[in-house]
Amino acid sequence: MKFATRAIHAGQEPDPTTGAINVPIYQTSTYVQEEIGKHKGYEYARTGNPTRTALEACLASLEGANHGLCFGSGLGASMNIMHLLSAGDHVVVGDDVYGGTFRLFDKVLSRFGVTFSWVDARDVKNIEKAIKPETKMIWLETPTNPLLQIIDIKAITDLAKSKKIATVVDNTFASPYLQNPLALGADIVVHSATKYLGGHSDVVGGAILTSDEEMYERLKFHQNAVGSVPGPMDCFLILRGVKTLAVRMEAHQKNAMAIAKFLENKPQIERIIYPGLAAHPQHDLAKKQMNGFGAMVSIVVKGGLENANKFASSTKLFALAESLGGVESLICHPVSMTHGSIPKEVREARGIVDGLVRLSVGIEDTDDLLADVEQALAKVPQLTEAK
Ligand SMILES: *Cc1c(COP(=O)(O)O)cnc(C)c1O
Repeated sequence: MKFATRAIHAGQEPDPTTGAINVPIYQTSTYVQEEIGKHKGYEYARTGNPTRTALEACLASLEGANHGLCFGSGLGASMNIMHLLSAGDHVVVGDDVYGGTFRLFDKVLSRFGVTFSWVDARDVKNIEKAIKPETKMIWLETPTNPLLQIIDIKAITDLAKSKKIATVVDNTFASPYLQNPLALGADIVVHSATKYLGGHSDVVGGAILTSDEEMYERLKFHQNAVGSVPGPMDCFLILRGVKTLAVRMEAHQKNAMAIAKFLENKPQIERIIYPGLAAHPQHDLAKKQMNGFGAMVSIVVKGGLENANKFASSTKLFALAESLGGVESLICHPVSMTHGSIPKEVREARGIVDGLVRLSVGIEDTDDLLADVEQALAKVPQLTEAK
């Protein structure tokens, strides 16, 4: 079956008791056993819950994975993956990743004796150079946040396989509709379900997808042993969100392309970053490994923080808020919001400058969004000379 059909049906049979077409919210902590050791597959709700089982099966299907595991947040899912490692292990990480991932690795995991090398993953040679005998994992995010760099998943997983290193890809920005890292050789895919999967800015969640049996058993063991599981209501909301993922992503992308084209070559804009524009340095790679270009658009406003703030506080439909991937358009200022935990020198060296704003283009009417961006841009003074 094709994607849009699986999004609605995979893992979801009518409720056996009532025929309810939607998988019920099994709001229970425990399950009654018929006799000692005889149960229906569920014993305690941290270990398993039928609403969660349905979501896990559905997301696995969408990523072309044999197995899915869901968590209370994207970072909960990421941490569960990191439990595959032990003190002394080394990880090579793409240097443009979600700020919370940086914080988890740099501030928490490093205290447990796991070491990290942060590299510009656009060039596979940088990854190769960073690999040590104790390297156990390569962690990638593509498109990256907030610079929307495209990382060549296939080239890196080929390298990783030759050295028996596991590759993890955070596929949050693309969503499974636009990119399937497992098909490109990745061992594990991680999602913040808070974003496009949920899609309505009303739930926090995370997911891990894999077809590797051994890793799955260990990840599942840790899901129960560590315990950052989602509640059934949250699973229901994500399951409901996912049903419209295909139509939402099409609408998101159409709007994002229109906005990116509109902003290209505007005098107040120093740089526009959208993988769908031919001017994006990795446009061809995006075309090759993705089924579309997504709906995140980053721009550097000329005049630094002052003008970025003028723009971001002048939009009316684009709400100034963290997060992304919901039906409503959002605008954020990575330096002060999502990437505040990265030291200033490190941040600026990577291009996360004060004038950078990131748009999560929603699915409102295209003309209304264009008009909103246009009126906000008109409030930004045009600088006559370069700063
Ligand atoms: C939001 C996000 C996360 C973290 O997910 P939470 O659900 O907020 O814990 C991880 N990776 C990316 C790319 C994200 O955008």
